[in-house]
Amino acid sequence: MGKAGNAIEKLVAGRWIAGANDRDAIAVAKYFNSKKIRALINFLGEAYTKEEDIAKTIDIYLRLIRYIENEKVIADITVKPTQLGLLISNDEFVKNYKKIINAARGSKVFTWMDMEEAEYVDDALSAYEEEVDNGMVGICIQSYLKRSIDDLRKLTKRDAVIRLVKGAYSASKNKSFQTRSETTDNYYKLMNFLFENGKSFTIATHDLDIIHEAIKLNKNSKKDVTFAMLKGIRNKLAVQLAEKEKVSIYVPFGEEWIPYSYRRLKEAGHLKLIIRSLFESQSI
Ligand SMILES: Cc1cc2nc3c(=O)[nH]c(=O)nc-3n(C[C@H](O)[C@H](O)[C@H](O)COP(=O)(O)OP(=O)(O)OC[C@H]3O[C@@H](n4cnc5c(N)ncnc54)[C@H](O)[C@@H]3O)c2cc1C
Repeated sequence: MGKAGNAIEKLVAGRWIAGANDRDAIAVAKYFNSKKIRALINFLGEAYTKEEDIAKTIDIYLRLIRYIENEKVIADITVKPTQLGLLISNDEFVKNYKKIINAARGSKVFTWMDMEEAEYVDDALSAYEEEVDNGMVGICIQSYLKRSIDDLRKLTKRDAVIRLVKGAYSASKNKSFQTRSETTDNYYKLMNFLFENGKSFTIATHDLDIIHEAIKLNKNSKKDVTFAMLKGIRNKLAVQLAEKEKVSIYVPFGEEWIPYSYRRLKEAGHLKLIIRSLFESQSI
């Protein structure tokens, strides 16, 4: 796994990442399927400016789609705009996004769009909106961004499929909430909006208070609600939750594990949480 990094980084990253190649991701997805959990598979890599990196990424997603179909894995794929060429041009990104979702639709595989830094949200949303009516696509919305309530108003009118997260990035004060508690308050506001106006959405968080509130709201709701977590953070809870609710786990794989792992390290905040998530009884 990876070229750089010391032993501790690799140990931590190994908990969060399925492995270096797509077969590792498929194996982990099958393990979670055996626990009634759907996998959301992401090939690690972002901010590409070289055509060869983008071409390789597309090939890997196309192969992954075939594995998912042929081996009947219960899994979606989830792609990042900047791994599909957004830093080269919007046209390049849209062309590559459409190529992947068309192949995925042909194999009955659902494609999610991850959301990255705030400056890419408009391009991600417009590419998604062009495709939403054709189905089998979903998009991530981040509660740290002040614009997200307006984005949800627009998207829910079109029956978009939404994954609600707090957001793994930061942005300026005029665009985003600056404190964890404001971001969490906004998460509740957006989640309530989805329970009133959404159709199909995913509550993607490890925040226990939010999860409990969503379970309560879901008791009397007719919405299609899924709970989702990242691999290696609260696997045990995900398995328990899957006895009663629809649950997905985000399964990243690939060599480029460093940016993803640093985002997770930052969120863990302190060593105790990292160690707890490392030594939780789940072996995968
Ligand atoms: C399925 C899924 C898909 C995602 N997709 C995107 C995306 O496309 N774009 C994006 O910006 N973000 C994405 N994220 C990440 C998300 O935005 C948050 O950065 C991340 O989930 C941490 O926030 P939280 O909601 O768990 O709340 P937090 O307040 O960060 O965490 C709540 C609690 O969870 C535990 N916890 C959280 N992280 C860790 C950790 N690393 N180790 C140990 N314990 C931890 C702690 O107990 C913490 O108190 C995704 C998250 C999930 C679950």
